[in-house]
Amino acid sequence: MSVLLAILLSALAMTVIVGVRYLLSSGGFALATRIRQPGLYVGLDRQIGREIFWSLASAAIYGVPAGIVAWGWQNRGWTRIYTDVHAWPLWYLPVSVLLYLIAHDSWFYWTHRWMHVPRWFRLAHAVHHASRPPTAWAAMSFHPIEALTGAVVIPALVFLIPIHLAALAVVLTIMTVMGVTNHMGWEMFPRFMVRGPLGSWLITASHHQRHHQRYGCNYGLYFRFWDRLCGTDDGLGSFTPDRTESAGSPPPSRVAPSLRN
Ligand SMILES: [Zn+2]
Ligand SMILES: [Zn+2]
Repeated sequence: MSVLLAILLSALAMTVIVGVRYLLSSGGFALATRIRQPGLYVGLDRQIGREIFWSLASAAIYGVPAGIVAWGWQNRGWTRIYTDVHAWPLWYLPVSVLLYLIAHDSWFYWTHRWMHVPRWFRLAHAVHHASRPPTAWAAMSFHPIEALTGAVVIPALVFLIPIHLAALAVVLTIMTVMGVTNHMGWEMFPRFMVRGPLGSWLITASHHQRHHQRYGCNYGLYFRFWDRLCGTDDGLGSFTPDRTESAGSPPPSRVAPSLRN
């Protein structure tokens, strides 16, 4: 089999894996939403259809770099992914997970802020914010340009930071679960955690909900570090059905200064 065909098949396989992972995780949390918050997604069928469409398109974009790198890892010894758990000290396992999350969070924060510059917002990020309010299906609802900025992160990091295959699976699981739950419209973590010291540094649905309500704040992905450092942290949102905040166009006073320019 030619190298090109093998890479193509690898990209196709990764696209299917990412797409199925999306359908199972978003579908699972959408089901949990029906049980825990019955009626929360009523009237959002058309929006959910668009969220699924853009998310599956994003799965194809995520699949290409992932597929190329997976092929190179298997066939050419690329990447710093290791499978012998003793190749690095055991304490490095959690450290590597943390390093990946910090690196991803930093990349996300700055590319996300860039996508809130009005002309880039209209081009690359309006698709994501068309979900008002977002649902569990919006986890990968991105314009192809935004999807590309997300798709390259992990495939690039595996060349830079050594990581055990199982630790990488942990990173991907955290990425998937937080991507879905941050958009599902209710908080699944206990109040003492979200409103306590841990929640003042970690991002959950309450934090990202406010980004979708007010736009010009709360740009982070996992940690509130960059938002706090750069003065863009605007606290936690609520999930009361205040449709002036969570639906329709954002009130002018709530639009980010950058969007009013
Ligand atoms: Zn945004
Ligand atoms: Zn979002």
